[in-house]
Amino acid sequence: MIIGIDLGTTNSLAAYYTEEGPKIIPNRLGERLTPSIVSIDENDQVYVGRSAGERMAVHPDQTASLFKRSMGSRKEFTLGKRTFSAEELSSFVLRQLKEDAEIYLGEPVTEAVISVPAYFNDIKRKATKRAGELAGLKVERIISEPTAAAIAYGLFQKQEDTRFLVFDLGGGTFDVSILELYDDIMEVRAVAGDNYLGGEDFTNVILDSFLEKHGIDKNECSQKERSYLRNQAEKAKCSAGADSFFRMQAVFRGDRLESLISRKDFEKKTGQLFDRIKQPVRRSLSDAGVRIRDIDEIVLVGGTTKMPAVRRFVGKLFGRVPDTSVNPDEAVALGAAIQGAMKERKSSIREVILTDVCPFTLGTEVSVKIEGDRLEGNHFCPILERNTVIPASRTERFYTVSDHQTRVEIHILQGESRFASNNVSLGVLSLTVPDGKAGEQEIDITYTYDVNALLEVEAKIRSTGETVTKLIKNQENDMTLEQMQKRMQELSYLKIHPREKEANKVLLLRGERLYEETTGELREQLEAVTRQFERILDRQDPDRIEEARKDYEEALDWIEEELWLE
Ligand code: AMP
Repeated sequence: MIIGIDLGTTNSLAAYYTEEGPKIIPNRLGERLTPSIVSIDENDQVYVGRSAGERMAVHPDQTASLFKRSMGSRKEFTLGKRTFSAEELSSFVLRQLKEDAEIYLGEPVTEAVISVPAYFNDIKRKATKRAGELAGLKVERIISEPTAAAIAYGLFQKQEDTRFLVFDLGGGTFDVSILELYDDIMEVRAVAGDNYLGGEDFTNVILDSFLEKHGIDKNECSQKERSYLRNQAEKAKCSAGADSFFRMQAVFRGDRLESLISRKDFEKKTGQLFDRIKQPVRRSLSDAGVRIRDIDEIVLVGGTTKMPAVRRFVGKLFGRVPDTSVNPDEAVALGAAIQGAMKERKSSIREVILTDVCPFTLGTEVSVKIEGDRLEGNHFCPILERNTVIPASRTERFYTVSDHQTRVEIHILQGESRFASNNVSLGVLSLTVPDGKAGEQEIDITYTYDVNALLEVEAKIRSTGETVTKLIKNQENDMTLEQMQKRMQELSYLKIHPREKEANKVLLLRGERLYEETTGELREQLEAVTRQFERILDRQDPDRIEEARKDYEEALDWIEEELWLE
């Protein structure tokens, strides 16, 4: 069975394809979203999702979130006594999604289509693929989130040429994509985005205003306090209605505190964020060579597009109501599942050829003539421009720059800066050319970028016909097969918390968190109900446990509410 996975910054989810269309796979708690949070306890027990989220408040030093932002980087996350990369933490999330899907579907799940932000570069895409492999999944394809969302909206079923703009504002990333559908071909025309813009920034606005109102210095808060306050700000953000206030409440060092932000105030405080949103929108339109009025459909994706303020902004910016018929949290996973089914060539799906684009410009370093014959190095010469539809191949001719030059070094670069040194170096291709005058030797350089984001660079010396090629595999974080298998084995010792105990554990962890937040009588009551629940768990009678869990949950709900009342 092949499933579609949306590996999100804040939440992840999986979907599968049925004859009636794609469906979300509920997790072990019966929920559709699994928070992308990982926690490891002293006994090397791994928690993923809500249980890890509860542990975040009490054991922040053993818990990690938002690691997708560091995917493919060398950043290390320390959880207790162990360290992990972002892709390893992601592999735990994927492992749990796989396990949950297998139980739900009643069959092994071995393959997946995993989505990534359209703006993810090659290194990050490869890291995502490896995360899947570390989780024991064969990654059939890495698909861009907007492409998946467009598929979920059934946009590929439209009859005529249509242009879509997918506006994807998630927890930590923002992507705009312009897609065009013609003759059964879905083409991604342009992508633009910001890897550091998302719902978290709106949460920060609410949090900062709370801290400011109460004169709390964030730097003086413990990590535990910070994560608790952030949680409360997040709650305030998600529970605001269309016209209402953002009301943040928290118990801080024994005091019950509250802050209110009006809609007008919020718009003022988030003005800069909305300005930042406009930039990639503009860039994607200009890269695709289209105007706002040429766009036929606007699709909203990502949890943050549920915010009324964001919907109002998009409506105003584009002068029309965006399509929100699919839940913006679920569109990407559903689309990835459809893509998976397409791969298996399920008959109920119309064949669509998807094309992708190269998300950044690839080129080389050159010297240019300035003032007469003086040469200046460090200039960037683009060969494959960003947003070129891939697979793509392009050849440019270059010349030797000095007399008796016999060596040519082709510096392979990725980036958008005019200057070579500001761009990312992917490698160097060296060749020997016959002796001659400056400009006498001609070298044809061909860049070929394929759908798997592999770049092949070929240099051909015209006078001799000799060619040299180099394959760029983004060596930065590449592991050999043996290294990968070794790491897989190491990680497999870390067991994910047993699924049948998860619901009880989430409640116990919630009890633990509330214990820290309560005092006095409420705390005593909490202690009593927790003890009672633990006693029943010890007796191991499933029916009794089921009933006790409900009682315990009700008690926790009551205690949590009590915290705000009075
Ligand atoms: P995603 O990365 O697409 O999972 O989006 C997660 C982001 O969406 C988080 O920052 C959430 O706080 C935000 N979010 C989810 N639901 C809502 C809601 N009802 N209102 C506002 N923001 C939301």
